[in-house]
Amino acid sequence: MVKERKKNRETVVTEGKITLKNVFAKYATNPNPALKDLTLEISPGEKIGVIGRTGSGKSTLVKLLWRSMDPDVGKIYVDSKDITTVDLKSYRSQIMVVSQETALIQGTLRENIDITLENSSQDALITQVLTNIGFTNADFLKSKLDMKVSSDGSNLSAGEKQIISFARAVISKRKILILDEATANIDLKTEEFIQKAMDEEFKDSTVIVIAHRLQTILKSDRIL
Ligand code: ATP
Ligand code: MG
Repeated sequence: MVKERKKNRETVVTEGKITLKNVFAKYATNPNPALKDLTLEISPGEKIGVIGRTGSGKSTLVKLLWRSMDPDVGKIYVDSKDITTVDLKSYRSQIMVVSQETALIQGTLRENIDITLENSSQDALITQVLTNIGFTNADFLKSKLDMKVSSDGSNLSAGEKQIISFARAVISKRKILILDEATANIDLKTEEFIQKAMDEEFKDSTVIVIAHRLQTILKSDRIL
């Protein structure tokens, strides 16, 4: 079934180039535009750090790229395709957003990490990923992959939930990765591990990182 669905997916993202042209975005309940005339071009594989004041529109940019909202004026292109014209499901299956809130499903830890089930039963891979991002006790983890996670995530700490998000991102390896203050609940040491793993795993992907800590985006190619 999963294979069938995959076959029918339109390939939208192959390079990971992102272009915004004169983008204005506003929320229905808010008279002021959240983004005003934003134009930028991100090359395939580029690492972009995003900083800005609270309310400056960083998360709005993420929503636009994820297409949970569309620009009022202007266009967004991924690989030169206007993203409002491509199949939404296909498009979303090819990018990954990690935010402060981790969406969890009622299921095991394994199912929560390998959400596409494309790598199911590859416990070794999952364990490796978790080890790389800072869980040092791999054997202990292996025994935990069958642990039931409640959908509200009440049996996990905030940082653990975010680590699940990162593991998810690494396992599904998308061409475009967007992190919206994703390390806010993670200690510095773990963040270092995650960054190292991300650098290696997403060498060829376009990565947009929104961060409050300067350290998180220090190594970016460019800062927005
Ligand atoms: P933060 O650093 O606090 O996360 P941000 O840069 O991510 O801020 P956004 O969430 O993009 O900021 O918000 C940009 C503007 O849009 C703000 O003025 C905010 O008040 C407004 N805004 C954001 N979400 C909504 C919403 N759901 N409805 C109405 N206005 C909103
Ligand atoms: Mg935000």
